[in-house]
Amino acid sequence: MNECATATRPAPIGVMWKTVSEDCNLACDYCYYSRVGGKIGPKINRIDSEILEKFIREYMELSNGQASFAWQGGEPLLAGLDFFKEVVSLQAKYAPSNTNISNAIQTNGMLLNREWAHFFKTYNFLVGVSIDGPKEIQDSRRVTRSGNGSYDRVMKGIQTLRDTNVDFNILTVIHEGNVQRAAELMEFYHKEGFRYVQFIPCMDFRAQEVHKSPRYLITPEEYGQFLCDAFDVWYNDGNPTMSIRFFDNVLSVYLQQEAEICTHRSICPTTIVLEQNGDAYPCDFYIHDTYKIGNVGTSSLQDILGDLVYKNFLGKKPKLPQKCMSCEYLNLCHGGCPRNRTWSENDDFVDVDYFCKSYIQIYDYAHERMNTLAKKIRRQQFVSAGHQLPGRNEPCICGSGKKYKKCCGA
Ligand code: SF4
Ligand code: SF4
Repeated sequence: MNECATATRPAPIGVMWKTVSEDCNLACDYCYYSRVGGKIGPKINRIDSEILEKFIREYMELSNGQASFAWQGGEPLLAGLDFFKEVVSLQAKYAPSNTNISNAIQTNGMLLNREWAHFFKTYNFLVGVSIDGPKEIQDSRRVTRSGNGSYDRVMKGIQTLRDTNVDFNILTVIHEGNVQRAAELMEFYHKEGFRYVQFIPCMDFRAQEVHKSPRYLITPEEYGQFLCDAFDVWYNDGNPTMSIRFFDNVLSVYLQQEAEICTHRSICPTTIVLEQNGDAYPCDFYIHDTYKIGNVGTSSLQDILGDLVYKNFLGKKPKLPQKCMSCEYLNLCHGGCPRNRTWSENDDFVDVDYFCKSYIQIYDYAHERMNTLAKKIRRQQFVSAGHQLPGRNEPCICGSGKKYKKCCGA
């Protein structure tokens, strides 16, 4: 982490801001924040303007050409359009020239309208909309405080994004109500034309304290089967037509690239997660006093990034359980997420990621088809770069040193 506090920082720093703390206009029954029951207080707890400006100024100084903001909640749209207008104007004010600024926002979709859509289009926001599946699934758990379903309103909001050509993706929380229904979900995405989808297994919020073992609403076996069923549809006889983040990541490793999901990279990315009051943490899963690395209203960003707690946090992911060290899928999985492992009190013993079995199941199941697909993509890329494919006995295009016919040509 020291490097991050210097001009020679190797990787961009991502920022995720809990824009309005736990304020939300839904009361999804599985949500950590649902303890407040879809509460919107008399005043929205949004980020203070002074803290916002101080942070953006300091962050831009360290941005090194790339500034990435993710806005989350509760429900971030409750902060209001004027707040986000202030955000983009501060970003423009403090960004050094030639800085690539990206903004992503995760919303429950309830407040999306033409005004928001125009704003997102104008400032090139990537919008993530949470939807758990067709109406019956969505309305059973993603409900308002009075218990009404949210499906119709969310789909109307999505339509405004479509009408305005806003880039958006879908986030589906996987829980007891949809984990057995992968094919149905995939059909739903297809029917609605949702091209970019990611799955998030639902954590049991009663066990979210960071020192406790992970607990989820679905078992590793259920999630593994879910992924296999979804994969069958996604693969589409070697012609995937939609992006499912998990499968895209696996495929990218088959194509000799690194996964982009933090869970399946070798180290946790350099991210600062900020609570609405400016308290800073290294990850969304580690929002706890033990992992607090400062407050952006009172500490300098350099101090926060150099905090010892941050260094200790970054040391967790590479501390792999024995089973991972000898796992044939280590290059795909990298031991999953440290939050999903079980740690002994002094962190000297660690057990595998809660979803280890799910990962092994899907990696086993998908291997042959992923391999075939990766070869096909390599051949296509080679040809579209203007090269001619080699003869069967010539060296392979992927640089493996094998004969083409026994490698990408097979
Ligand atoms: S702890 Fe887990 S969720 Fe957090 S950055 Fe690391 S891999 Fe990602
Ligand atoms: S699949 Fe399991 S054993 Fe293998 S690297 Fe991942 S968590 Fe470790």
